[in-house]
Amino acid sequence: MSVTTAAADKTVCAAPLPVLGRDVTVPLVTGGEVTYAALDYAASAPALQRVWDDVAAYAPYYGSVHRGAGYLSQLSTDLFENSRVTVAEFLGCREDDQVVFTRSTTDSLNLLAAALPADCQVFVFETEHHASLLPWRDARVTYLNAPRTADQAVATLERALADRDPYGPALVCVTGASNVTGELWPVKELAAAAHAHGARIVLDAAQLAPHHPVSISELDVDWVAFSGHKLYAPFGSGVLAGRSDWLRDAEPYLAGGGASRKVARRTDGGVDVEWHDTAARHEAGSPNVIGVYSIASACKALTEAGFDELVARERHLIAKVREGLADVPAVKVLSLFGDDAPRVGVLSFVVEGWNSSHFAAALSAEYGIGVRDGLFCAHPLVRTLLGSDPQTQGECGAPEAAPGEKSLNAIRVSFGAGT
Ligand code: PLP
Repeated sequence: MSVTTAAADKTVCAAPLPVLGRDVTVPLVTGGEVTYAALDYAASAPALQRVWDDVAAYAPYYGSVHRGAGYLSQLSTDLFENSRVTVAEFLGCREDDQVVFTRSTTDSLNLLAAALPADCQVFVFETEHHASLLPWRDARVTYLNAPRTADQAVATLERALADRDPYGPALVCVTGASNVTGELWPVKELAAAAHAHGARIVLDAAQLAPHHPVSISELDVDWVAFSGHKLYAPFGSGVLAGRSDWLRDAEPYLAGGGASRKVARRTDGGVDVEWHDTAARHEAGSPNVIGVYSIASACKALTEAGFDELVARERHLIAKVREGLADVPAVKVLSLFGDDAPRVGVLSFVVEGWNSSHFAAALSAEYGIGVRDGLFCAHPLVRTLLGSDPQTQGECGAPEAAPGEKSLNAIRVSFGAGT
């Protein structure tokens, strides 16, 4: 199953995992067609064939979850609850952890933000994706300056936590792998720093989970959030897994059926509610059983394929891209922690003299290669990497740099289990 390549001297898995869309052809502006090259896994990864097959096999048996006595309802409820167990195993959850199903990473982090205890202090690096940067704005939030090495990240957090009010609750939010540079963050060390100062930590694993094993207990983080559509399971589901106490003590994220155990009219005319203490507390409404089942299917497929091989394959692909880009003097690869920092299969660059949006459009129109351009929902980080004005320059959309001026946005290529 494994071969060694001379170029990057890495052991790579012999074949990518089967995904949908591998044979799709797209028209070229020059005429003719070409097989589409999906190099935008970091935005949304194609479904694993295995996920698609599992969902198709279940589809005829589709039924309501937690809301029916019929056979198909019972089957769907079992599938939904067994998926929770699969995800808990995939994430190495502790005994007391909860797995809450959400719509996405963004939804998961907003749920946690809504569940913060009163007066909670939040610490977050300015380099985060907007999904982990923005949900805390109603809390007492401290934005930490961009570190330039992994060690500096830990030291910066240590300093900020040392200055905090030591008696109140505190939360650190950190990404596992950057969606811009692909660089890995020192999660274990950041978790140790957080705990040493009595704070908790949530890991945004949106970009980490598709490429690396993520174990809550091994990393010793308090919560993990990720999205199904980046984990080869594109059916609108996400996960927030971790400590149950804050979640159990919080008001339900959504109020409605499924979250409530008992509802009764009061004599004064109002309504009393007893909420569930389990994950159901934050899952009001009819659940997305197909989305949840597809996440569980992807978790199983990735575990069976083995992350070692997936990681080795992506390293090899990234090394090849870097070798190719190194031959083009106008190209600058973006990196926060330095060129040799370990990274997942995500890499961004600029081409001097080119507007990144035009470059990305040309890759699509002339070669059938799908990449992403822009600021990747991480505006402060990309501006830092490009050396542009931290406050004003570069908006989402298609920022223009005049010829000869610095790029205001970047191009991103990203790989995954299907590349
Ligand atoms: N966190 C990171 C690091 C991401 O890359 C993304 C999406 O690109 C998100 C969070 C948000 O994910 P979603 O859009 O699925 O909520």
